[in-house]
Amino acid sequence: SPTTIAFLGLGNMGGPMAANLVRAGHTVRGFDPVPGARETATQHGCAAFDSVAEAVEGAGVIITMLPSGAIVRAVYDQVLPAAAAGALLIDSSTISVDDARAVHEQAERAGFGQVDAPVSGGVKGATAGTLAFMVGGSEQAFAQASQVLEPMAGKVIHCGDTGAGQAAKVCNNMLLAVQQIAVGEAFVLAEKLGLSAQALYDVVTGATGNCWALETNCPVPGPAPASPANNAFAPGFATALMNKDLGLAMDAVGSTGAQAPLGSHAADLYGRFAADHGDLDFSAIIDTLR
Ligand code: NAD
Repeated sequence: SPTTIAFLGLGNMGGPMAANLVRAGHTVRGFDPVPGARETATQHGCAAFDSVAEAVEGAGVIITMLPSGAIVRAVYDQVLPAAAAGALLIDSSTISVDDARAVHEQAERAGFGQVDAPVSGGVKGATAGTLAFMVGGSEQAFAQASQVLEPMAGKVIHCGDTGAGQAAKVCNNMLLAVQQIAVGEAFVLAEKLGLSAQALYDVVTGATGNCWALETNCPVPGPAPASPANNAFAPGFATALMNKDLGLAMDAVGSTGAQAPLGSHAADLYGRFAADHGDLDFSAIIDTLR
């Protein structure tokens, strides 16, 4: 059923996500401090407002898609006093598990249902309405949220209680970072051994070392024609974004005391690579191994 949805953060991801909600018949009230983002949203059928408080007025659902945990906290400080009773809060930003739990508690104390619902799929998935949502929260809040997320989603997975969505995202991306570096190491070693990239690809894609970082995101041109390596490493998934997610993974490693020697090393390597190559696909890290 059509709902009034406030959408806060109309950037690269939030803009097209809000447009898909409009397309599905919802009334969308948007806010972003950047005038250009508000203009684009208006062209897509959103109503744009000059403040968080105005945008959330009367909304049954309030979605945030913001750059960082600090900004989500600051925006929640403005949302909670202004939101209508009974509103459901959905945060789709990628933030730390600790920040996700903190804003959830803040929302709950103010009487609102709230879920963390970070995404994977990038701007492509946001535009196509095929994002994967990883949701943390109660059964009831999940059931409510998944209906609203549907027009933006390929799949919506209930990962567990509050923070579980962010936990799933951070674990996946730490694993992916380690795999992409390891795949780079294998291709560089093959080069030095005189083994062709195509032969390595053909063997490993049918063997036990296979993974998405090799089969789909192959870091050398040729074997997987659609991978960023064939296009001067235009992303794809930009190194700067991987580096942000690894920072959150390291926050989680620190706060839980988990042992992650390879994840920590990957975070270190991507931190250095991001300083000069943040705009390249993260598979370009292979060039630092040559
Ligand atoms: P972005 O920087 O393009 O958009 C963020 C928007 O938030 C900006 O337009 C900014 O002006 C706005 N904003 C800042 N302060 C605000 C405030 N106080 N109130 C309202 N809006 C405010 O970033 P993005 O690429 O859209 O990413 C958004 C989130 O999604 C991030 O947490 C990111 O990690 C995550 N994410 C991004 C991708 C991707 O491929 N871009 C993929 C998955 C997840």
